[in-house]
Amino acid sequence: MADYRQMWADLDMDLATHDLLCDALPVAFGDVYLSQENRPSGMDYFNFVVSEIHGVRPAELIEHQKKGGKVFGTFCVYVPDEIIFAAGGIAAGLCGGSQFWVPAGEQVLPRSICPLVKASVGARLSRTCPFFRIADMYIGETTCDGKKKAWEILAQDVPIHVMDLPQMKRDKDIKAWEEEIRALLAKVEELTGNKVTAASLADSIKLINQKRQALNRLYSSRKSAPVPISGKDALLAIQIAFYDDPGRFTSMTNALCDELDKRIEAGEGVFPADAPRIMITGTPMAIPNWKLHHIVETSGAAIVVEESCTGTRYFENAVDESGTTIDEQIQALAARYMKTNCACFTPNPGRVQDILRLAEEYRVDGVIDYNLQFCGLYSTESYLVQQALKEANIPVLHIETDYSEQDGEQIKTRIEAFLELIGK
Ligand code: SF4
Ligand code: SF4
Repeated sequence: MADYRQMWADLDMDLATHDLLCDALPVAFGDVYLSQENRPSGMDYFNFVVSEIHGVRPAELIEHQKKGGKVFGTFCVYVPDEIIFAAGGIAAGLCGGSQFWVPAGEQVLPRSICPLVKASVGARLSRTCPFFRIADMYIGETTCDGKKKAWEILAQDVPIHVMDLPQMKRDKDIKAWEEEIRALLAKVEELTGNKVTAASLADSIKLINQKRQALNRLYSSRKSAPVPISGKDALLAIQIAFYDDPGRFTSMTNALCDELDKRIEAGEGVFPADAPRIMITGTPMAIPNWKLHHIVETSGAAIVVEESCTGTRYFENAVDESGTTIDEQIQALAARYMKTNCACFTPNPGRVQDILRLAEEYRVDGVIDYNLQFCGLYSTESYLVQQALKEANIPVLHIETDYSEQDGEQIKTRIEAFLELIGK
């Protein structure tokens, strides 16, 4: 990595502790990613982004701030990036995916909170992540209890605007979400000093839809057998989508997809055509959480789709682009975002339907229902997910884990037994 020490010092980061993270990440990335064979060359861009993870993009965000722009940190796929970009701001996903930050989170949170929340709080409070330092404002949401209470703690350290996400999907809930989007727009206008216009919102709706289309293309390529890209690589791309420049991300992902199309035409893949095809469903995997994918794919199976917020929930359903007034555009945004099926809703039959649909589309041989430890929402919904999969005769394995490596061997043993059961 180039020398960014001055930039990190200017961000008032804890440089000594941050050095430990900078030393550990390339080793983990080398072991998990660079050890793979026959990777598409289009992954070079994403490798580069990781190799400069705390350098290049943070430097771009700071450049944007120097020109008077604002940066908004987000934590959930219900927060509409379109509003932020329409006001000339930049949205960057901040969810923490590393065990490195968990102890700092546990200093202010109970142990029995999910690792994603603990790592996110820990990344801010330990001053060891430039993204968490750079953001002018965090945008939280009322999705799960852990996050709701974490915002109150983080609010002592950084300005936060919290969006009140409804828990049901009745017409009045969709209307209520429209109001929340309107309130976000007002807040973003206030902080950036820029007015959102129907024209600027139309542009940002197109920009984010194009990113969704590129990710859709990437995922569709994984419907082929042999699969032209590993699950690990597809996961990395979508993790980077959360904070990369959207236009650049779209063009780099489309370039990768051009290469994947050629591989599909040539019948080339990264796993044998008869390798077991696995879907992951459940809680998000924020960068650099590659734990489950690594175990599954080094056990000989291919992960072909993730029904997750770092998966299909992030890019399925485009925003209707036909609105010509801000009111119509906000309605279209609310309608699109409320189609996403997170376990924080009740009832949430759409998620089970999505899982069954994706199982068919991606021709999966088995599903791993993945649950971050202490996520009450997804672990409880697991009962209905497993029931539906069993009824559809699709083998399912429930895995609950955290970010540590301690249970790696035990998970590997369970996955190997599951793959044997699938019989491929
Ligand atoms: S799992 Fe739910 S709360 Fe978490 S990022 Fe996804 S939509 Fe948001
Ligand atoms: S994984 Fe579950 S507990 Fe953790 S932030 Fe997401 S919804 Fe909340």
